[in-house]
Amino acid sequence: MNLFVANWKMNKTRGEAAAYAREFGAILGERDPGVEIVLAPPFTALDAARDPSGRWSIAGQNVSSEAAGAYTGEVSATMLAEAGCRYAIVGHSERRRLFGEDAAILARKLARVREAGLTPIYCLGETEAEREEGLTATTLVSQVETLARDPSDRPLVIAYEPVWAIGTGKAATIEDAGSVRIHLSELLSDRRDVRILYGGSVTPENCRPLLEEARVDGFLVGGASLKASTFAAVAGVLRR
Ligand code: PEP
Repeated sequence: MNLFVANWKMNKTRGEAAAYAREFGAILGERDPGVEIVLAPPFTALDAARDPSGRWSIAGQNVSSEAAGAYTGEVSATMLAEAGCRYAIVGHSERRRLFGEDAAILARKLARVREAGLTPIYCLGETEAEREEGLTATTLVSQVETLARDPSDRPLVIAYEPVWAIGTGKAATIEDAGSVRIHLSELLSDRRDVRILYGGSVTPENCRPLLEEARVDGFLVGGASLKASTFAAVAGVLRR
């Protein structure tokens, strides 16, 4: 089933998250959306963003690489699971770039996520410089290697997010997203259950061809997920 994940980043208070959840719930109504929807609010708003009727699930935007202990400011995978999360985002480029999360840290995060029974949404993608130097494939291979110890019989979500496309208004072309999707499917061919999402400046205007022609399994959406009706349009669940 296609999957649409809203990454709110450091946006929305608890009150704003609750208002969004009410509006999004009203848009969905009682019908089966026919797609899977996940909201990833800040930790403080996880509870406010939940859907008591279970039409969408929630995800942590980040997770600690440690299980518990003296790690001030960190939130563990077990805490996320207990807060009702089904997923945790691991390896978002903002975490890699701004917070220095390298392959070793990300592999430990993946392990904690699995121990807590959550499914990782593992983000990867090349920078603009890597793309210009023709290093997209090499970068993806090395980022996929971080999954080497992740159990291949468990469901996995990959989000291909070229760094140059995140928050820039410059989404990948259908050709680029499609060829990376094929390459990632080959790299992950030992996996029983993997969905490959695209992320990077997705909007209601550009999403259909990416879904239908690049044949990704859904989207990780930043900016366009901040408004309930816009995210609903991307997920294809907006009633007309
Ligand atoms: C993201 O941060 O995961 C993202 C895809 O952002 P945006 O949609 O704003 O490019």
